Amino acid sequence: ATSLPSYPLDAPASEAMFARASAVIPGGVNSPVRAFRSVGGTPRFMASARGPYLMDVDGREYVDLVCSWGPMILGHQHPAVLEAVRDAATKGFSYGTPSENEVLLAEAIVNRVEPVEQVRLVSSGTEATMSALRLARGFTGRSAVVKFAGCYHGHVDALLAHAGSGVATFALPDSAGVPASSAGETIVLPYNDSRALEEAFRERGDQIAAVITEAAPGNMGMVPPAPGFTAAIRRLTREHGALMITDEVMTGFRASMSGWYGVEGPTELGAPDLFTFGKVMGGGFPAAAFGGRRDVMEHLAPAGPVYQAGTLSGNPVATAAGLATLRGCTPAVYDRLETVARAVADGVSAELAAAGVAHTIQWAGSMFSVFFREGPVLSYADAQQQDTAAFGRFFHAMLSQGVHLPPSAYECWFVSAAHDDLAVDRVLAALPAAARAAA
Ligand code: PLP
Repeated sequence: ATSLPSYPLDAPASEAMFARASAVIPGGVNSPVRAFRSVGGTPRFMASARGPYLMDVDGREYVDLVCSWGPMILGHQHPAVLEAVRDAATKGFSYGTPSENEVLLAEAIVNRVEPVEQVRLVSSGTEATMSALRLARGFTGRSAVVKFAGCYHGHVDALLAHAGSGVATFALPDSAGVPASSAGETIVLPYNDSRALEEAFRERGDQIAAVITEAAPGNMGMVPPAPGFTAAIRRLTREHGALMITDEVMTGFRASMSGWYGVEGPTELGAPDLFTFGKVMGGGFPAAAFGGRRDVMEHLAPAGPVYQAGTLSGNPVATAAGLATLRGCTPAVYDRLETVARAVADGVSAELAAAGVAHTIQWAGSMFSVFFREGPVLSYADAQQQDTAAFGRFFHAMLSQGVHLPPSAYECWFVSAAHDDLAVDRVLAALPAAARAAA
């Protein structure tokens, strides 16, 4: 039998650091969902990470099922990525001029996602969606944008209406500080509802610059597009002269080598006009991108009238990490992700069922999330009908046995190719007690 740790609920070193952090950083964290607000308790401060494991400042080891919220697809400190980062760093940290790694990373993206003819590199997923939106508005000369409730596209003003992720966790419909004028150009529709989309285009079709959607939404838990929904977005945007922006920040290079696009493929009417990427393509460093049709991308400065820029865009160390990560994403890596994800999800399902806990697991490629309710979950409204208290108990029982899950019931679980059989066995061995705690 796999032996598991049994960590006490208190974590003295993390608690001390969290207290210091809370004095100088709002809420003690630099991204809200890290604060454990929805599950309670003190976030663990990490001291190091290697392969499938995180090590905290109390000297405790966890199997990592967050993987930095997606980027660490090859595991922590993958030797090839580490080597590429070391090599790049010895050649300088940032030039503020073009450099070869940017070209190589752009080519790697264009080669993997067929409809993407050009990309512009940025430093975060938020920047990617913000820039794609500006480009779509500049290209079409229109200002309204359609987004779907429960989809998170980063903390862009216009896209923070009914976002999932941390916003869902805190049950805030919107953010303070977003002007009504900015959110007022955003039309929020229920996900997977083609009729609502049809209606919106009937009413305001000539004002809509773009529909932005997560390729397969993973920020309200995993809610893949129902059959025909992606096609409906493509058809209506085409009919009304709007652009279709597919946000693959989370799914890109993870759901498959070509992201969710590689799983679902083009619709009868073709592919999205613009894509956004982040997470995996930065290999754990700040690199992200937006790209798509050449005729649209050529509207960007310096050739075109839509301004977009960045001091650290295409940073040589970040692009080296991203490139090494994409090169490391072989078919064997995707096979391993699939094997690990299925083993973990099957174990979760079996143990929650045995303990009589209502749940449903949903997938997009090898990505999945666990909802603490009966399925199916088609929309944000469905996702909100969860027993989050049960999830909180489950989460802490896993944590005390050395498994770090995302600290919210609204997040996908992320695995890496470095999750070997030992790491998987540790997760499986922790499940029975966690399922009983959730019951
Ligand atoms: N888009 C999607 C689909 C995301 O999941 C995220 C982050 O989780 C973002 C955009 C924002 O990316 P970043 O956190 O790098 O700004």
